[in-house]
Amino acid sequence: MSQTKRRRVIAGNWKMFKTQAETRAFFSTFVPLVSASRHCSIVVAPPFTAIPAAVAAAKNTNIAISAQNLHWEKEGAFTGEISTGMLVEAGCRYVIIGHSERRQFFGDTEETVAKKTKAALAAGLTPVVCVGEHLSHRESGQTHKICKAQFDGGPGLLTPDEFSRVLIAYEPVWAIGTGRTATPEMAAEVHKFLRQLAAEKFSAKLAEALRILYGGSVKPDNIKGLMAQEELDGALVGGASLDAKSFASIVNFTS
Ligand code: PEP
Repeated sequence: MSQTKRRRVIAGNWKMFKTQAETRAFFSTFVPLVSASRHCSIVVAPPFTAIPAAVAAAKNTNIAISAQNLHWEKEGAFTGEISTGMLVEAGCRYVIIGHSERRQFFGDTEETVAKKTKAALAAGLTPVVCVGEHLSHRESGQTHKICKAQFDGGPGLLTPDEFSRVLIAYEPVWAIGTGRTATPEMAAEVHKFLRQLAAEKFSAKLAEALRILYGGSVKPDNIKGLMAQEELDGALVGGASLDAKSFASIVNFTS
């Protein structure tokens, strides 16, 4: 399948940044800058409290709103957690799952990533499941082993129908927030490997349709080089998505 058949996704992960007022200010600059963009889906993931402000600001635009995490249970005694129903009601269409910061600091495991992914799909949300190796893994030649374990323990456990509705983000941990980007060739090599895992586990057709985003210090000055790789179906952008002009120039990388 040619690249043009996989619609690209450029998603911004705001992490724990921006109040509601800052969110409204972001969208008032961002919306006009990307309103004519048709070449990719645009997603913004604010913190939970700013989701309603983001949804209101993105209404009737080409921008979808994502959450950054969820709990797999519908409701219950889970202090501090947010369910899929709450996210859907708030207007979210996507949810980031298993980001390395959640795996590293908040105890996300292969098992919870799998539960969260299934819950998101059952609620009609599109999960963006993050995988990626630490620097020590890359330096010791374990990149494929780690990515395979994360794939097998997460997206690999889905049914084919569920898998067809998932996005994967390959985010080498050593490239997140460090200014150190994987070269386009390094990223493409791992994307190809993940696609091969998808073909082995599911089918060639589902593997070809799978969208794999790259994340890790994506900036306005490196997005073009990354997107020149057919294997890269978009980007998950952290720091550079906080500034409306900078994120718009990433979204508009084709112009
Ligand atoms: C991220 O948070 O997913 C990310 C890739 O961050 P950054 O772009 O800042 O490296």
